[in-house]
Amino acid sequence: MIETLNIDVQKVETSKISAVDFNDLPFGKVFSDHMLVAEYSDGEWKNIAIKPYAPIEFTPAMAALHYGQAIFEGLKAFKNEQGEAVIFRPEANFARFNISAERMCMPTVPEDIFMKGMSQLIDIDKNWIPNKPDSALYIRPFMFSTDEYIGVRPSAKYTFIIFTCPVGAYYSKPVKVKFETTYSRSCPGGIGYAKAAANYGASMYPAMLAQKAGFDQVIWTDSNTHEFIEESGVMNVMFVIDGKLVTPPAKDTILKGITRDSVLTVAREWGLTVEERPVAVAEVVKAIEEGRLTEAFGVGTAATISQIAQITNGDKDYILPDPAGRDFSNKVHKHLDAIKSGATADTHGWIYKV
Ligand code: PMP
Repeated sequence: MIETLNIDVQKVETSKISAVDFNDLPFGKVFSDHMLVAEYSDGEWKNIAIKPYAPIEFTPAMAALHYGQAIFEGLKAFKNEQGEAVIFRPEANFARFNISAERMCMPTVPEDIFMKGMSQLIDIDKNWIPNKPDSALYIRPFMFSTDEYIGVRPSAKYTFIIFTCPVGAYYSKPVKVKFETTYSRSCPGGIGYAKAAANYGASMYPAMLAQKAGFDQVIWTDSNTHEFIEESGVMNVMFVIDGKLVTPPAKDTILKGITRDSVLTVAREWGLTVEERPVAVAEVVKAIEEGRLTEAFGVGTAATISQIAQITNGDKDYILPDPAGRDFSNKVHKHLDAIKSGATADTHGWIYKV
C-alpha cells in the first residue's frame, strides 16, 4: 500500500521560515510551510496532496460547522541528537484517530495516507523542527465533514488535513485545580474516549468558571455520582499513593492518552506497582490528609507532565508536596525526554524515523 500512495507535492516558492524567531515560539501560532490534504467522497480517499499551508474555502452550509463531525490528533516530531527527524509514537495516534472516526460516524483514514503522508510532510518541513532541547514540531492531523447539506446525518464527504507548528519548550507551571462536581466532560455512552472537537467545546464553560474562581483547571469527575476522578483538564491524571502509581482506568468517558500509556509502561518496568482502577475523590482526599499522597500530576503530549500543586475539594484547599521533590514524575519526565532525544535507547519502538 505504502509504495503505491501517490502524493501530489506542490512546494512553496519562498519559505516563511526566515521570518520566524525560533527563540520565542508561542504555542500554536506559528505554522510551517506545508500541509497534507486528502479528500473523501464516493466512498474513497482521493486528491492526496502536500501543498503550501494556506486558508481553505468552504461553504457556510458545510456539515462540520453545524453538526460537529470533527476529530483531531496531537503529536510531536523532534530532532534527535544525530539531527534526524523523529516522531514519537505516531502509530498510536493513528490508531486513536480511527477510533475517534468510527465513534463520530466518519470514514477511517488509511494507514498509508496518515503515516506516509505525515512522514513526507515532516521530511519536507524538517527545517521547521526546532533544534533546542524540549522544543518540537507539533503535528495536528484532523478531519471534518464537508457535505453542503443542512440536516443531521453522517456526511458523505470529508477532508483530512495535517499541518504542523514549531513549538518551544512547554513548561507547565505547577497547577491549582478543583474537583469539578457540577459539570461533566463526558458521560457513559458518550464520546469522551474520542478526540472529537465537540468534547473541547463542551469543556470550555466549566473551565472558564473555574478560572474565574482562581483555578488553572478542573479535575473532571464521573457524570453519574461525581465521586470518581476521570481526567485533569485536557490531560490524564495520576497519583502516587502509598508508593503506588494510581490512575483511573481507560474507559468510554476517558481519552486513552498516549503519554498515559508511556508513563505506565515505564513505571511497570521500573518495578513500581501500577493500579488502573476507579479512584475516588474521597480516597485522594484521605490520602492527602494522612500524608500518604506524594505526587499528583497530569500527563499529555503538550507538557508530558504537569504537576498539580494544589487541589480544592468543595471549600477545602489542599497544598500538595513540593513538585520539585517528587521522585517518580520528575524522573519519568526526564526519561521520556531522553528517549525522544535519543540519549536513552528506544526499547519500545516508540521512535519513528521520518
Ligand atoms: N485527555 C484529553 C481530554 C486530551 O485532550 C489529551 C491530549 N490529547 C490527553 C488526555 C492526553 O493524551 P496524549 O497523552 O495522547 O496527548
